Formats: sequence, C-alpha cells, structure tokens
Amino acid sequence: MIEVKHLTKRYGHFLALEDVSFQIGEGEIVGLLGPNGAGKSTVMNILTGCLSASEGEVRVAGVDVREHPTEAKKSVGYLPEQPPLYPDMTVGEYLRFVYDLKQVDLPREPHLKEICELVKLGDVEHRLIGHLSKGYRQRVGIAAALIGDPKLVIFDEPTVGLDPKQIIEVRHLLRTLAKRHTVLLSTHILAEAKAVCQRVLILNHGQLIADEATDALARKVEENTHFQYSIIGPEKDVVKLLRGVSGVKDVISTGERDGEAWVYALSGVAGQDCRKAVYYALAKQGYPIIAAGAVGADLESIFIRLVDNATSKQ
Ligand code: ADP
Ligand code: MG
Repeated sequence: MIEVKHLTKRYGHFLALEDVSFQIGEGEIVGLLGPNGAGKSTVMNILTGCLSASEGEVRVAGVDVREHPTEAKKSVGYLPEQPPLYPDMTVGEYLRFVYDLKQVDLPREPHLKEICELVKLGDVEHRLIGHLSKGYRQRVGIAAALIGDPKLVIFDEPTVGLDPKQIIEVRHLLRTLAKRHTVLLSTHILAEAKAVCQRVLILNHGQLIADEATDALARKVEENTHFQYSIIGPEKDVVKLLRGVSGVKDVISTGERDGEAWVYALSGVAGQDCRKAVYYALAKQGYPIIAAGAVGADLESIFIRLVDNATSKQ
C-alpha cells in the first residue's frame, strides 16, 4: 500500500529525512514513532503529496506520488497535524464541502451519515466547528479524512491535545478503522503505538532506526535488562563481584556518589532476571543496596539504545 525508497528531504541545507525506506502492506496498522522534530510530519506530508521529496521514490496504492499526485491522493485520507477546519462552518456544511472538494462518487448523504456514525459525530451536525471542543474538532478532522472511503488513512499525531477519555476514544476508533483501511499514524508516545499499532517505524533525526512488530519492541522495553544500583562498599570489589553474578552481562561504576554509596549501571542478559542473584551476592559480602531501579522503560532510553545499536553497526 505504501512503498518508500531512499527518501530524502532537505529544507534548505537542513536534512530533515535521510535515506528513509519502508513498506506498508494492505490492512496493516503502523505507527510512525519518534520524538518531536524527528521528521514524522515531513514523511506524512510527502506521502500525501502535500510536500515534495528532495530524492527518492514514494508510491501509494501503486501510484507514484510525484508523477501522479492527484491520482495518488484519491487513495489517501489525511488528518494533518493541524487540520484545516473552518470555524465558521457547521460540521455538516464542512463535511459536504470536503465531499465536493474530493469529488467523491459515493452517494453523498448516506456516505456522510455512515462516517458520522462511525466517528460518533451524529448530534453535532448543526453546530459551528469553532464552538466544538478539541475532541470533537479532531473527530471532524478524522471524518473529513474518511470521506471518499480511501484505502489508506494517514493521521498525524491524532491524539495530541486531547484529554484521557478522548484519547481512549480516538485509539478505539483507530483500531476500528484498521478493519477496513490501511492505517498509518504518527505519535511521539510509545504507549500509544503499543496500544494501537501492529508495527512501528521509529524515526530519529530524520533516520529510520527501527522497523519492528510492536510486541517485539514492547518485549525489548519490558525485558528488564538495564538497572541502576546504589551500593555501599569498595567500588572495585563491588564491580568484580557483580560481574561474576549469573545473569549479569556488564557492570560499570558511573563514578557518581549516592551518600556513602557508589552508583552502578548494570545490564542483564536478555530473558534472564538477574536481580535476585545480585541481591544475594551483595548481601553475602555485606555490601548493602540502598537504592535500585530499572532504567530504560521510557521512550527516550529506547531511542538512545536503538541509536547506539544503529551507530555500532555502521
Ligand atoms: P515531527 O513531525 O517528527 O515533529 P517534522 O517533520 O515536523 O518533525 O520536522 C522535522 C525537522 O524539520 C524539524 O527539525 C523541523 O524543525 C524541520 N522542519 C519542518 N518543516 C520545516 C520547514 N518548512 N522549513 C525548515 N525546517 C523545517
Ligand atoms: Mg509533527
């Protein structure tokens, strides 16, 4: 459904995307994950023909976006980061306006009614968009994207600015849409990708640093392999002792103090929880642990690890 090959985008001298390639098959629901400024919106704007690439090839539903932008756009429904809603139109007027713009063949009223039911917009049809809450405005944007029943829907940060209840509703909606459409959504929240997507593409500084099934990524995150310990005792002896503990892959002293203790960073062998063994080994030698915690379950740490891996492979 989407084929991106060696995509590069420069804004002047600034390299926003560098040699990005990926494919998304029909019916997949994929998350484009990355911190702010990673290039997510740039990818989406190029996929939807709103922005031109500097280099590379982009095909949507088999159509080259650069060569046949109008045809390519017909297969795509897009919810941009800032949907172009008109505050002075009612919801109904706006959706009919979008319907006309898109030159849709489907019978107008039943089609719009079906979409409004799907995104639960029914009772606000006569309200002015400018008077709606952010959650409802987002639904109007999603409804507009669905007009014409596009095979592919692309949503840029669809839950940003919503309250927790609205976030849950939108995520639910995204999963429902995935039954009929191929869905690509961007987010800077790992938990969101985990909740909604089958697969994630991770962008960092314009480079694609991971393309993985979400459960595989989640396993990596939850593997509990990186810890930080504050331990009282002679630094060298503690390092030596910990290195000999079963399930411990590596230990370094960070050189930081935590009161009387030294702070150590410890990594465990994947799939093997070393924490009990660490506790007993230290207790036996009389070296008290005064603080301990897992590190790296957050998005930032995953990025750091993936970037580290990517750099060490080069
Ligand atoms: P994301 O959506 O992941 O937050 P963007 O694709 O919006 O990232 O932006 C990627 C990078 O490109 C950012 O550093 C941003 O400042 C820069 N950028 C985006 N649009 C422009 C533009 N029109 N001109 C110059 N730089 C831009
Ligand atoms: Mg963005």
